[in-house]
Amino acid sequence: METGGNSLPSVGTDGTKRKVCYFYDPEVGNYYYGQGHPMKPHRIRMTHSLLAHYGLLHHMQVLKPHPARERDLCRFHADDYISFLRSITPETQQDQIRALKRFNVGEDCPVFDGLYSFCQTYAGGSVGGAIKLNHGHDIAVNWAGGLHHAKKCEASGFCYVNDIVLAILELLKRHERVLYVDIDIHHGDGVEEAFYTTDRVMTVSFHKFGDYFPGTGDIRDIGYANGKYYSLNVPLDDGIDDESYQSLFKPIIGKVMEVFQPGAVVLQCGADSLSGDRLGCFNLSIKGHAECVRFMRSFNVPLLLLGGGGYTIRNVARCWCYETGVALGIEIDDKMPQHEYYEYFGPDYTLHVAPSNMENKNTRLQLDEIRAKLLDNLSKLRHVPSVQFQERPPDTEFPEPDEDLEDPDERHDLDSDMEVDDQKLPDESSRKPPSNIIQNGRIKRENIENELKDQEPHKVAADHARGAEPMAEEMSSSKASDIGPMAVDEPSSVKAEQDNTS
Ligand SMILES: [Zn+2]
Repeated sequence: METGGNSLPSVGTDGTKRKVCYFYDPEVGNYYYGQGHPMKPHRIRMTHSLLAHYGLLHHMQVLKPHPARERDLCRFHADDYISFLRSITPETQQDQIRALKRFNVGEDCPVFDGLYSFCQTYAGGSVGGAIKLNHGHDIAVNWAGGLHHAKKCEASGFCYVNDIVLAILELLKRHERVLYVDIDIHHGDGVEEAFYTTDRVMTVSFHKFGDYFPGTGDIRDIGYANGKYYSLNVPLDDGIDDESYQSLFKPIIGKVMEVFQPGAVVLQCGADSLSGDRLGCFNLSIKGHAECVRFMRSFNVPLLLLGGGGYTIRNVARCWCYETGVALGIEIDDKMPQHEYYEYFGPDYTLHVAPSNMENKNTRLQLDEIRAKLLDNLSKLRHVPSVQFQERPPDTEFPEPDEDLEDPDERHDLDSDMEVDDQKLPDESSRKPPSNIIQNGRIKRENIENELKDQEPHKVAADHARGAEPMAEEMSSSKASDIGPMAVDEPSSVKAEQDNTS
């Protein structure tokens, strides 16, 4: 496979060392979604063990994340949703049937012991990584993060809080533009929805599309209002291999980097796009998957690497270990070192596994059309959007635990008049990013109506008309019940992952 590279003049050589930090909480592997549930936080511990025994931990700063606090989580999420996550327990859930339903907790997203601390841990790692990048690290890694399906007011697809949105909000304090790239097999719907109407965040998701969870991610969904052309969706079919994948990834991301010129990049490295995944249907090798990391790294722009899906856990650990090596610029041995989970990797005990002989349903013609369409959309972005930074907003500071109890209202003084940061408004719930940055509640869909007149009428949904309206009321409302589920693309395929469970 070609190593790629890019045409940006500011790029250093790929051999250049990067300053890398890595977030890991030794407790994370103990969280347990329940018997038969495919999401297994244990895979994070397996990854860590491999990193340790490959000797990679010595090459980066290893940090235990500060748990994200309620007010950190509420920068994106609704207050009542976070209060619910904080209070619900397996013992009390029978008394909370209505709330469980309202917040979509209980089935794909079960209540388990320590659920809230799990959320605090994985979100703390991603926000912590963003803070590190804002302070000069080149690459930050949080394999426990990347839970891209979580919405403002509801859990979805094994995700409860959206650590990615929170990390991007932190990066936006220092960077005019942030690029989000998602190589999980599932559409990165929660992140796309959050930033659907802003030009300060471009989201690019490569995913299986068509009768597959979460059902969104049509190539015609391109963003709305100020965000028009700042959402990119790359719909793929079963069995895609390394070569086909990179025939889209490199030209599209190369063009995105050229026209959008982000100050920071977040790469969600969901490993359910690997060959042989328990829930996935792609045919990528670990090297093919990691090529996305290598390519992203080659631009020498601050890079946050996050986890995500991945349900054949031995391959998830293999993949994220190898990708940590790529981040460090270290090519690690195929022969695996002895470690406490060694027996998971038999009979070969190697890092790499051969992809299968499954059929690649993505034809050359389809791939060419997708590439041409997306490059055409990108050609419509003429200007690089910018914002005036008069003064830098303060970092999210994780204080010592006792400071956690401070009056949250004191925080507003820290928050300057920066567009991206919280508004100086009196009530608690208003201390969220303004609506021109973050899109909440309902997903807005805009297609290229004039160019695609034959598209289905459902795409111009009733809520569409509201898209350009400021979402202030919704933003400041702590009552989320009036914010319905997504009006468009109600996920008929929600059960796709669930069906495969157990
Ligand atoms: Zn996934």
